[in-house]
Amino acid sequence: MSYDLAVVGAGIVGLGHALAAARRGKRVVVIDRDAQANGASVRNFGFVTVTGQGAGDCWNLARRARDVWVEIAEAAGIDILQRGLVLAARLPESEAVIEAFLASGMGEGCTRLTAAQALAHVPCLRPEAVTLALHSPHEVRVESRQAVPLVARYLAERHGVDFRWNTSIVAVEAPRLIGADGGIIEAQAVIVCPGDDYTALFPERIAAYGVTRCKLQMMRVRPAQPVTLNAAVMSDLGLGRYLGYAELPEAEPLKRRLDAEMAAQRENGIHLIVTQSADGSLVVGDSHHYATTPDPFGSEAVDRLILDEFDAVLDLPGRSVSERWIGTYASASGRWRFTDKPSDAVRIVIVTAGCGASTAFGIGEETIDDLYGSL
Ligand SMILES: Cc1cc2nc3c(=O)[nH]c(=O)nc-3n(C[C@H](O)[C@H](O)[C@H](O)COP(=O)(O)OP(=O)(O)OC[C@H]3O[C@@H](n4cnc5c(N)ncnc54)[C@H](O)[C@@H]3O)c2cc1C
Repeated sequence: MSYDLAVVGAGIVGLGHALAAARRGKRVVVIDRDAQANGASVRNFGFVTVTGQGAGDCWNLARRARDVWVEIAEAAGIDILQRGLVLAARLPESEAVIEAFLASGMGEGCTRLTAAQALAHVPCLRPEAVTLALHSPHEVRVESRQAVPLVARYLAERHGVDFRWNTSIVAVEAPRLIGADGGIIEAQAVIVCPGDDYTALFPERIAAYGVTRCKLQMMRVRPAQPVTLNAAVMSDLGLGRYLGYAELPEAEPLKRRLDAEMAAQRENGIHLIVTQSADGSLVVGDSHHYATTPDPFGSEAVDRLILDEFDAVLDLPGRSVSERWIGTYASASGRWRFTDKPSDAVRIVIVTAGCGASTAFGIGEETIDDLYGSL
């Protein structure tokens, strides 16, 4: 059988492309070397973030991708576990950043909260950790380790997408893809979404984008007593790191203060994100270390720095850490994604920043429009 489209990679970027093509009635096959998605897409917070994404196409595609997550959630059996974001600020320099953000086009729908209002969303916030807060209603949070397989199942069952697991593709010579076992898959068009695997397919073309990798440390924290976070939580460190805030001129004094007073967190690329799972546990992170081949070892000192900020912001005595893991994602300086076009029928799509869960469904539609023409 010959497919209209073969997608290499069953992470969220590959699935986003498969969905966009299947919605157009294309006959799609998704191929992955693993038995199920096991890369960045199942290791992240599942935090589909709009507010804080870099101005321009990232923010626009994040809004579209968030809408697609919501559109498919019920049919795919995916629970939306949290909505919105409370960014709790305690440093005086954060106020100017929040005000500037609210005054920008990206602030639409977002509001400034008093400490009391922030505590109404997140009762376990430490009052001393909030002098003001930014509230965004735009985010949704899913449990990625469940949601990504559910998207794949939804694509198979509702859209007739075929999946070939345990299949490494070693060459793309459209309309043929060649597997490591010599098997051939035929497809008129091919989209390669390899995450941070830069060497299996089109290595020279990918290398031209100056790619490296980012390593992140993550934890699952269990509160000793039941708590409910009605929104994801971030802190001042997020204002210094997420480009939608950090690129505002008003962020310069804040970044200087963070560099001076929270140097260890800044040097380890740490900002605080806390999301909540269905069982009440909290997914907490993260750090950012860049290398061509990051080491696979989780540093206790780095976890400690993340937890210091967690404890500075949230009052959860007796909390414990029940899981720790490392993830890596593709990174490239000065760009958050790229689409390369080896030929008319082939695309390589890589998200080179920590926002693939938030943008993949939007990017998928963009690539499919480019391949088949806009509707
Ligand atoms: C710890 C962590 C936290 C994050 N937090 C967030 C967040 O809160 N919000 C957000 O939006 N983003 C977040 N991200 C980023 C996001 O997870 C990534 O941008 C996204 O998952 C990348 O998806 P992908 O499909 O490109 O890559 P992957 O999920 O890595 O998938 C690539 C797939 O391609 C397959 N593959 C590669 N080459 C071949 C080949 N030759 N043959 C067959 N199969 C192949 C691999 O097996 C893999 O399954 C985070 C990432 C990490 C690691």
